[in-house]
Amino acid sequence: MEDVVVIGGGIIGLSTAREVLVRDPDASVVVLEKADDVATAQTGHNSGVIHAGIYYAPGSLKARLCRAGERETKEFCDEHGVPYDVIGKLVVATDDVEVERMRHLAERAARNGIELRHLDADELREAEPAVTGKRALLSPGTGVVDFRRVARAMADDVTRRGGRVVPRSQVRAIREEPNRVMVATDTGEYRARALVACAGLQADRVARLGGLDPDFRIVPFRGEYYQLPHQRGGIVNRLIYPVPDPALPFLGVHLSPGIDGRITVGPNAVLGMAREKYPQGSVDLRDVLSYTTFTGMWRFARHNVGTGVREMRDSLSRRRYLGLVRKYCPSLQESDLRPYPAGIRAQAVMRDGSTAEDFLIRRTQRQVHVCNAPSPAATSAIPIGRLVTDEVLGT
Ligand SMILES: Cc1cc2nc3c(=O)[nH]c(=O)nc-3n(C[C@H](O)[C@H](O)[C@H](O)COP(=O)(O)OP(=O)(O)OC[C@H]3O[C@@H](n4cnc5c(N)ncnc54)[C@H](O)[C@@H]3O)c2cc1C
Repeated sequence: MEDVVVIGGGIIGLSTAREVLVRDPDASVVVLEKADDVATAQTGHNSGVIHAGIYYAPGSLKARLCRAGERETKEFCDEHGVPYDVIGKLVVATDDVEVERMRHLAERAARNGIELRHLDADELREAEPAVTGKRALLSPGTGVVDFRRVARAMADDVTRRGGRVVPRSQVRAIREEPNRVMVATDTGEYRARALVACAGLQADRVARLGGLDPDFRIVPFRGEYYQLPHQRGGIVNRLIYPVPDPALPFLGVHLSPGIDGRITVGPNAVLGMAREKYPQGSVDLRDVLSYTTFTGMWRFARHNVGTGVREMRDSLSRRRYLGLVRKYCPSLQESDLRPYPAGIRAQAVMRDGSTAEDFLIRRTQRQVHVCNAPSPAATSAIPIGRLVTDEVLGT
C-alpha cells in the first residue's frame, strides 16, 4: 500500500509529491501521469512568466501563494540548475480608461505587498523605446523560466527522494474505502492511504471518478500565441503587458521575451472545443457536450457573449490580433507574427455562471482534489504543493 498516490504529472502534482517526500522521507509516493512524459499539458504550454502577484484579490490564495511562489520558484531553480531570468515587467496604459484602471491595479498590488515603480510616458520611452503609452507600472521582480524544465527537475527530485513517477498510466476508476483508496489505471491498480488529484483540464472528470459531485465544470480556453522572428529579438527587454480588463479573468495579449531570447506574442483567450487537442479548429465532441449541457456555462455565456465573439474574431484574423499589440508596440508588422503552439487553460466555471477566481480545492476523507489551478498556478506550484500536503497529512 502506498502512502500517497498523486494523479497528474503537471507542476502541481509533482510539487505536491515532492513536498510530501520532503516532510516525510520514508513516505511511499507514486505520481500517475496519463501522457508519455511529465509536463505535457498546461505546464508545458504557457507564457513562462514567474509572476510577482500584482493582480490578485488581496487575501486570496492566488495573492498569497503567488507572492511566496515567486521567491520559492527562483530558489528552486537556483538549487536545481534551472535557468531563469528576472527581466522585469511593464504594464502599459494607452488611454485614460486604462490609466484609471492602472491606478486601481497599483492600489491592489500595494495591498498585496508588491513593490512597483510608476513611469510617465517619457520614462517609459526611455526604458523601452519601442513601446508607447501614457503611463506604465514597472514590476522589477517578474521573471521568465521554462516551467517544463522546472517540472522535470521536480520529477527528478521526487525520484531521487524515493518516489515514483509512472507515465502512460491514465486513472480510470477510483474507489474510496474507510481505510484506503483504490486507484485503477491502464497499467495496474494502486492502493493508497490518501489520494491527491491534480488533473488540470480533467479535474472535474477525475473528481467525479472519486465520487465527488463537482459544482463546476472545466471549460477549455485556448491561449493562442505568435512568435516574433529572430531579428525582432531585441525589440523589448522586459515583459510588456496591457492593463487587464477587470471584467475578464485573463491578462491580455502581451510580449514575452522567453528564457531562449525569442519573444512570444499572446496569449488570447478563446473558448476551446477540445480540452487536450492543440491545433486550431480541433473539436472533441465529448468536451463540447460537457460544457454545452452545463447550465453554469449558459449563464456564463449570457454575460460574456460580446467578449467571446471578439476573442474569436481576433483569433481568426492575424491583422486584428496584431492590432491588440500595436496599441503599445506600434512598429510591429503582420509579417512579424510567426506561428507558435497554443496552450489550453483549464478554467472552472461554477453553476452560477461565474468563473472560479481563486484556486479551488475540494476533498473527501481520503482524497484531495485540486480543481481550479489556472495562472499563476505554475508560479505558485511550490506553495500550492505545501497547502495540499497539509490537507493530505491531515487525512
Ligand atoms: C496559455 C497559458 C499561459 C499561462 N501562463 C502562465 C504563466 O506565465 N505563469 C504562470 O504561473 N502560469 C501560467 N499558466 C498557468 C499554468 O500553466 C497552470 O496553472 C499550471 O501549469 C497548472 O499545472 P497543473 O499541474 O495543475 O496542470 P497540468 O500541467 O495541466 O497537469 C495536469 C496533468 O494531469 C494529467 N492527467 C489528467 N487526467 C489524468 C488521469 N485520469 N490520469 C492520469 N493523469 C491525468 C494530464 O495529462 C496532465 O499532465 C498559463 C496557462 C496557459 C494554458
